[in-house]
Amino acid sequence: MGKHAILSPSGADRWMTCPGSVSLSQGRPNPDSSYSAEGSDLHELGAVCLDEGTHAKEYIGQVVLASGVPLEGEGSRSGTVITEDRAAAVQVWLDLIRSYEGLGGSLLIESKVRLTWLTNEPDAEGTLDAAILRTDPELIIADAKYGMGEEVEVVGNRQLMIYAASLLEQHQLWEEYTTVRLVICQPRITTAPKEHVIRIEDLRAFCLEVKKAAIRVDAEPHVLVPSTKACRWCLAKSICPALTKVVEETMLEGLEATDATPPIPVARVTAAVAKFDPTKLAAAMDKTDLFEMFIKAVRAEVERRLLANEQIPGYKLVQGKRGNRKWIDSAEVETMLKSFRMTTEEIFDLSLISPTTAEKRLAKSHPIRWQKVAGMIIQSDGALSVAPEADKRPAISIEAPTFGLTVVLPEDGSDLV
Ligand code: SF4
Repeated sequence: MGKHAILSPSGADRWMTCPGSVSLSQGRPNPDSSYSAEGSDLHELGAVCLDEGTHAKEYIGQVVLASGVPLEGEGSRSGTVITEDRAAAVQVWLDLIRSYEGLGGSLLIESKVRLTWLTNEPDAEGTLDAAILRTDPELIIADAKYGMGEEVEVVGNRQLMIYAASLLEQHQLWEEYTTVRLVICQPRITTAPKEHVIRIEDLRAFCLEVKKAAIRVDAEPHVLVPSTKACRWCLAKSICPALTKVVEETMLEGLEATDATPPIPVARVTAAVAKFDPTKLAAAMDKTDLFEMFIKAVRAEVERRLLANEQIPGYKLVQGKRGNRKWIDSAEVETMLKSFRMTTEEIFDLSLISPTTAEKRLAKSHPIRWQKVAGMIIQSDGALSVAPEADKRPAISIEAPTFGLTVVLPEDGSDLV
């Protein structure tokens, strides 16, 4: 029986670039564990639906527990209640996997793959969401991500490549395929799956990188290499000396030596940053994701320790703002208000449905009505925001400000005096 891998495919972006993260994050609490639990439960629902040939919406209102079967009723804290939104997300995954049925070959769902051959970790294994062992020379490896936050990149996705290689190794199928199609389905971000095809020889070359990185984890357990990709999901962020150093150095870099003595007022930092030249500003901007991750991790760690009744000098827990008032029993209140002879309009807040709800209710069942009502929707442009040069969206050019003055050029082409 295998065990969950420490050098896991999902953590490969971290441990392949920061070998010291493995020992530093051992035993650290996972603040995002509730989201991962929800993801595991939704994967479980997907597997049940594929196994039983059912639609995800049939499970709305039930509780699903990973590695268990759906339980009747609501209210359990040890599983995930299937809501309309969750069922819709799982259904996107089911539709994708079922669309592969016509391709021939065999389908593997939630299949265990051994990882020891690649990472040398005894008994380590991982679970791939879906693989389609096609009869033509292309293997398909698909992964469902139920998070709502960040879009996962499919190109160069180490997790999927490790699964693909381990599956080929385990079933001795290296010679059967010439390419592997990597597929990521993130239904809560976009309903369109993202795909990338890699050649088998490139996958083999990647396996050598994985093997070298796994050796480094043993050989260099104290080498810490911060980067946005590595640190993003690292459990050691709040205690990592290397990450703290990057944050401190970048913060202090812009300050004159005499200004850098704590406590440093915000105005002094702002004034220092305002003097950065473009190169220095870009270098600092490159590290802002790291800063934000570090700050978030430190806040979460302080809260966790205070909740565990540990002392953090200068900090304490206080009661926050009270929550919104709500009825204990809505039906009872409704009956009482009616007994006061209040009208329906007085009792209920009626509001018009949103374009999103209208689309859900009309687009498929009444497309002509939907077309009519869709013409009555306006949508404002997104606000301008800063993105890296590599971002796929086109750059917006801004005209130089004229500070409210109208520029008038002399007709004869001479300079204005
Ligand atoms: S926070 Fe970043 S640098 Fe520190 S151990 Fe984790 S991955 Fe490595």
